[in-house]
Amino acid sequence: MDKDNNKAVYLDHAASAPLEANVLKVMKKFLTVSGANPSALHKEGIEAKMAVEKARGSIARILGAQKEEIIFTSGGTESNNLAILGTVSEYVSHIVTTNIEHPSVLEVCRHLENTKQREVTYVSVEANGIVDRKKIKEAIKKNTILVSVMYANNEIGTIQPIMEIAKEIRHYRKINNSKYPYFHTDATQAMNYLPVKVDKLGIDLLSFNGSKIYGPKGIGVLYKKRNCKLEPIMWGGDQEFGLKPGTENVAGIVGISRTLEITEEIKEKESKRLTKLRDYFIKQLSRRSLDSKIKINGDLEKRLPNNVNISVKGIESDLLVIELDARGIAVSSKSACQSDGPDESYVIAALRSQTSGAAPRPAKPWRSGGSLTSPSEEGSVRFSLGRNTNKADIDYTLKALSSILAKLKKWS
Ligand code: PLP
Repeated sequence: MDKDNNKAVYLDHAASAPLEANVLKVMKKFLTVSGANPSALHKEGIEAKMAVEKARGSIARILGAQKEEIIFTSGGTESNNLAILGTVSEYVSHIVTTNIEHPSVLEVCRHLENTKQREVTYVSVEANGIVDRKKIKEAIKKNTILVSVMYANNEIGTIQPIMEIAKEIRHYRKINNSKYPYFHTDATQAMNYLPVKVDKLGIDLLSFNGSKIYGPKGIGVLYKKRNCKLEPIMWGGDQEFGLKPGTENVAGIVGISRTLEITEEIKEKESKRLTKLRDYFIKQLSRRSLDSKIKINGDLEKRLPNNVNISVKGIESDLLVIELDARGIAVSSKSACQSDGPDESYVIAALRSQTSGAAPRPAKPWRSGGSLTSPSEEGSVRFSLGRNTNKADIDYTLKALSSILAKLKKWS
């Protein structure tokens, strides 16, 4: 913590956005007095059931979907698992995805390859962190059952051309007279800032969670288009159309619905505000001659309004995270789901392998053991801005970065 002004700056909203007070307010009732099981027949149970259905209706409206297309899960990881495992369960099939998806997609694909003899094609993103829709199209085969491409990346914030990919998939289905492949997108990082009408996007399955949109943790949604066939991946109850058995997390469901409503209300204004702040941050990084060593990772335009991801030549990202933390600034070095792993971020490695013209990475670039450690390895730090971030926070962070880099330069 900085002794002079006791400043605490939280720039880790992509890992977890703090729960909105207004969301907690609507949840409280279902955590305490009305904590009944929605399957119960008494009036408390019926009240809980009605709250769940009201929340389902509100989310469906915001996504432009039908109520029965909304499945409540325990979070983004479960939504992604259900979308992938539920689709491929009965078929000898092939999946197309990218090499920078969240581990809750990549690890599921790896599991399917290892244990179920499913085939997976990992399309490499370009050096700017964006996948070429033509490469996705080229990867689709006769037995491709699912294409899974994230809407926006959690580490570098790059936004994928979802509508264009959906168009390619529709075209493929039409000329092959097939209902496959289905198109799934992990929209977990996108919900705060990007359009989410499912018809416009042209997707069949969409995942998101509560914790990235200032709602509760441990709750998520999978949108599943009506005619999309999905098998359960867990058994033991009829809840959520049999696709998420178990007693409903009523407070979480009410919370995610309320927080999505707030997110939609302020989306446009907040996106504009944060884009300005993000661009100011990036501009200042170059101006303050910090830039001789700093590289911004990912496309500068097609990126989330709240994301700035940098690599600093010769400086380990964890060291930078610790130095920033010592000055009261909270940031991340890679996906929160693997921040204690030994490897460089596989997302940064994927970008670097394209820039350097090096041979493509192995089919499973994440968790590939020692193969990622090389002298050219680059650390990366993600600053993810949020609703409470203001210009003073960015100025403070820039000042802190300058002093950290000057200190570390002396050391080296
Ligand atoms: N997908 C993306 C893009 C994410 O950023 C995250 C969380 O970091 C997840 C999925 C997993 O969400 P949850 O932590 O709710 O399981």
